Amino acid sequence: MAIAPRTETTNHWATQSWNCSPEGLETFGPINLVVLQPTSYCNLNCDYCYLPDRHLKNQMSLDLIEPIFRQIFTSPFFRKDITVCWHAGEPLAVGVDFYEQAIAQIHQAEVEYKEQPYAVHHSVQTNGILINQAWCDLFQRHNFHVGVSIDGPAFIHDLHRQTPTGKGSHQGTMAGIAQLQKNQIPFNVIAVISQDSLDYADEIFNFFVEHGIRDVGFNMEETEGVHSQSSLDHADIEERYRAFMERFWQLTLASPGVIQVREFEILCRLIYHGDRLTQTDMNHPFVIVSIDHQGNFSTFDPELLAVSSDRYGDFTLGNVQRDSLASVCQTEKFQAIYGDMLAGVNQCARDCQYFGLCGGGAGSNKYWEKGTFACTETYACRYRVQVLTDIVLEHLENSLAHPS
Ligand code: SF4
Repeated sequence: MAIAPRTETTNHWATQSWNCSPEGLETFGPINLVVLQPTSYCNLNCDYCYLPDRHLKNQMSLDLIEPIFRQIFTSPFFRKDITVCWHAGEPLAVGVDFYEQAIAQIHQAEVEYKEQPYAVHHSVQTNGILINQAWCDLFQRHNFHVGVSIDGPAFIHDLHRQTPTGKGSHQGTMAGIAQLQKNQIPFNVIAVISQDSLDYADEIFNFFVEHGIRDVGFNMEETEGVHSQSSLDHADIEERYRAFMERFWQLTLASPGVIQVREFEILCRLIYHGDRLTQTDMNHPFVIVSIDHQGNFSTFDPELLAVSSDRYGDFTLGNVQRDSLASVCQTEKFQAIYGDMLAGVNQCARDCQYFGLCGGGAGSNKYWEKGTFACTETYACRYRVQVLTDIVLEHLENSLAHPS
């Protein structure tokens, strides 16, 4: 089944260009997600983690909250509601009081700088181990959306998600999930799929069902940052990966309403509604703004902020204490990064039949797998987009050929 109109050699997608004039900047954003890294530290040492400084107990000063939100609220890219996602290393490691004070300061910055009516929502992505009643109270007081990282049952999760002394973390994460459930706080989970998961679709599905986990996203183990080789980056793994996802989706379809899988939900919405993408939040400037504990900021994939590369240096574009978001668009570094990023998206638009369901992928995967943003297919996009699309379209074709 064809995904989008296509000639023999060329997709019908317009090539995108850009410039950093005031009119050009109006096409950047709007900011959708502000990823704040209150600490680089993590209480776990997962072996597939990309973060280089997860052992360091750096912490964001509360004095940075005012400049961060001054820059956000006065930016030309602030043109809709935003979600603040507290993320990476383990965001709960900085304690409940940090968040109470930070959120009070964000409210103060809204009063001082926010001229538009757009709302600020909060979310957190945690390994769940520190969640107790005080955290649940905070989540409820401030209406947090909570995401918990868990890879399935203990025999899979504990292979990779371990403490610095090598102990499994499954029990601690499940205790955190039990606290959320006791407080009736809705949450989603993100499960990393490594080679060790691929034979266990039924076990992972049943584990989620048995523990009342309804909202699941799969992240592929990626080659990224200090994790230099994913266990999935081998051509002979793809068939096993496909079989895993196919089986998981069959199980999902066989029990309607029990579990929703983020990847399939997004794809089905695009396919069934006829919507097509021309970009993603990860490859369009200032849809995502990521800020570390020192106030350094970047855009595109949040994963870029904490790492550096031979080709571009680090991906820090500025610091909230001296630079506005728009001002960094004039820098050589931004122009080199975005020039390559856009070249890669345009190549994808020209060469890839999945482009309308992908939007040209994530630059970090391209860089870490190919050494540049100016390229197309990666293992990550094969797994995240192409294989899943083939599964959905095959299912659709079968159901049209054999209506029940
Ligand atoms: S990133 Fe991969 S799937 Fe997406 S458009 Fe480019 S080549 Fe296609």
